[in-house]
Amino acid sequence: MKEVLNPLENARYQIKKACEILKLDDCVYELLKEPYRVIEVNIPVKMDDGSIKVFKGYRSQHNNAMGPTKGGLRFRDDVNLDEVKALSIWMTFKCQVTDLPYGGGKGGIIVDPSKLSEGELERLSRGFVDAMYKYLGEDFDIPAPDVNTNGQIMSWMIDEYNKLVGSNKFGTFTGKPLEVGGSLGRTEATGYSVALTAKKAAENINMDVKKATVAVQGLGNVGIYALKYIEEYGMTIKYIMEYSKKDGVVAFYKESGFTFEECSKIAATEDKDFLSIDGAKKISNEEFFKADVDILIPAALENAITCENVDDIKAKIIVEGANGPVAKDSDEILSERDVIIVPDILANSGGVTVSYFEWVQNKMGYYWSEEDVLDKEHKLIEKSFDEIWDLSQNLNITLRQAAYVKAIKKISETMKLRGWY
Ligand code: GLU
Repeated sequence: MKEVLNPLENARYQIKKACEILKLDDCVYELLKEPYRVIEVNIPVKMDDGSIKVFKGYRSQHNNAMGPTKGGLRFRDDVNLDEVKALSIWMTFKCQVTDLPYGGGKGGIIVDPSKLSEGELERLSRGFVDAMYKYLGEDFDIPAPDVNTNGQIMSWMIDEYNKLVGSNKFGTFTGKPLEVGGSLGRTEATGYSVALTAKKAAENINMDVKKATVAVQGLGNVGIYALKYIEEYGMTIKYIMEYSKKDGVVAFYKESGFTFEECSKIAATEDKDFLSIDGAKKISNEEFFKADVDILIPAALENAITCENVDDIKAKIIVEGANGPVAKDSDEILSERDVIIVPDILANSGGVTVSYFEWVQNKMGYYWSEEDVLDKEHKLIEKSFDEIWDLSQNLNITLRQAAYVKAIKKISETMKLRGWY
């Protein structure tokens, strides 16, 4: 049997399953299996040597029944249309997990940003907005950072957008630095929800949180802040895995546990020399997935757990920091083994939740304290987690299925009232 690794097929399967559980009209699946609008652009960029390079960019706007479409933009050399479509589908449901007034969107550019100079990266970011701005807007579609994009890129983009439309408002992009209308708490927001949902899942199965051991794959913005709060909750991070330009994907073990302080410093450097941490040992990538830990957090990219490594996994809880890290067949295998998987659309929903707070603050022109933001995030994630946990217990379905059931029920009711079917 060939394993399903195409994220779009994976996303469609999840929709189909929830539509069946909810016994919805077939047309609801038809309405949700494709984005309502996909835009493909070719962006000419003047390179530092005077030559012109053309980069391909996409934006997929999946469903806007609940409000403007919302979701990140990723810069990677293997961005492709199916991936962008799948990620936009996941955003639609992620936004309904925490009841945000948004639908789902996602975009990307086929580029390895580490090969561009800062000037080239700025021209590419502005070029994307030049090609796309008619389809963006604080009430239409609101991008944010994702893989390899950040607050600086969002700052160039909001600046370009404002110039093009003749405004000076900040709500069309989120994940911006504070100086350009960003929100306190946005940077750590995704990692925070990952750690919080890991803690809640552990508590719900009577695991001793203070004794829990953890492995984190990917120390980008999500993984690194997950690590911060996991450490605060008293869990021990024994294994880490990260990509470095020099050595590719590398994994490490530390008996006494890695700390946020030591990891965040090294994760920010080019070489990512985690071996320089006192007590750290290098291990193979296979050993990382075989790790005897309580909680595994894949926080890198899609398809981290596949038929290649699923049988090795010993963790009792998997918390999806990345979008789509557990392939479809592996998801079924792990669920049959009673491994608890906190799905991406719940676990990492803290990012878009605080993006929503940023957008609200931009629209009001009134900004909240960090404490206020984190408190609001905590309440929303906790409430959503409890609701989805209860739904999964009551219907005897997985947490992933319960999250889709919650989201698709709401969206289908809204689409019905709006007369879409
Ligand atoms: N890229 C993030 C995600 O996948 C955040 C999206 C947003 O803030 O709009 O959830």
